[in-house]
Amino acid sequence: LEEVSELDQANRTAQAVPSFKAGSIEVRDLTMAYGELQVLKGVDLTVRPGSVTCIIGPSGSGKSTLLRCLNRLVEPKGGTLLLDGDNILAMKPEKLRRRVGMVFQHFNLFPDHTALENVMLSPTKIKGLPRAEAERIAMARLADVGLASRQHHRPGSLSGGQQQRVAIARALAMEPEVILFDEVTSALDPELVKGVLNLMADLGTRGMTMVVVTHEMGFARRVADQVVFMDEGRVVEAGPPDVIFDNPQSPRLRRFLAEVL
Ligand code: ADP
Ligand code: MG
Repeated sequence: LEEVSELDQANRTAQAVPSFKAGSIEVRDLTMAYGELQVLKGVDLTVRPGSVTCIIGPSGSGKSTLLRCLNRLVEPKGGTLLLDGDNILAMKPEKLRRRVGMVFQHFNLFPDHTALENVMLSPTKIKGLPRAEAERIAMARLADVGLASRQHHRPGSLSGGQQQRVAIARALAMEPEVILFDEVTSALDPELVKGVLNLMADLGTRGMTMVVVTHEMGFARRVADQVVFMDEGRVVEAGPPDVIFDNPQSPRLRRFLAEVL
């Protein structure tokens, strides 16, 4: 397992815990197509502020596309999307992306920048903060993810788990209302998965609103307030983890769970 150094631990407890802003999401009858291919066929989703929603479902069911619609990396065809009551489809994408952070499977860090510089980029470039202020924020967020002592390392000299934690720090540095996670542990070596999941669980406990696409059923059961099962572009079933995992209502979900558990 990856060790968090004593210095990092000390920094982490010394940092004031950031108070996360509320973030609610309402999705109604969301549709989306790639050309002729209908990928989302009328998705409804409600995310309460400060809650953790895990989205599960087979490959190709539209989970990533749903996340991409939420921060307009792709444009929906129809439907209503609200962020804290504001119409997502009427917002400038740059403005939306300050409010909705995203973490990807493949980190997408800049290889020629240090961990600190990677985390500082959005606060300086997108928010226009002065360097000193951005650096202060970036250091605090690196400390949050247990990587203060790695601030000068480039991604190439960090483990996959550490790189993913830098990517999470980068998302946090924008102080978003919601963070979307798309299979963020799928590319990690097995021994590095737990550290990243624990960090995400920690963020959830501290009130960060999170929408998490994951294959980690243990995480979903333990951390989610709500689990959403998607299949073929629709939400088939949504509910608290104990209902979804122990008392699934739809045959399709039962079959899926039998395959993955
Ligand atoms: P999931 O994340 O659940 O695996 P996706 O949202 O990635 O599902 O994909 C849903 C469907 O859309 C799949 O059939 C996939 O092949 C298709 N798809 C995804 N991205 C694109 C794209 N950029 N262009 C065309 N088809 C795509
Ligand atoms: Mg996907």
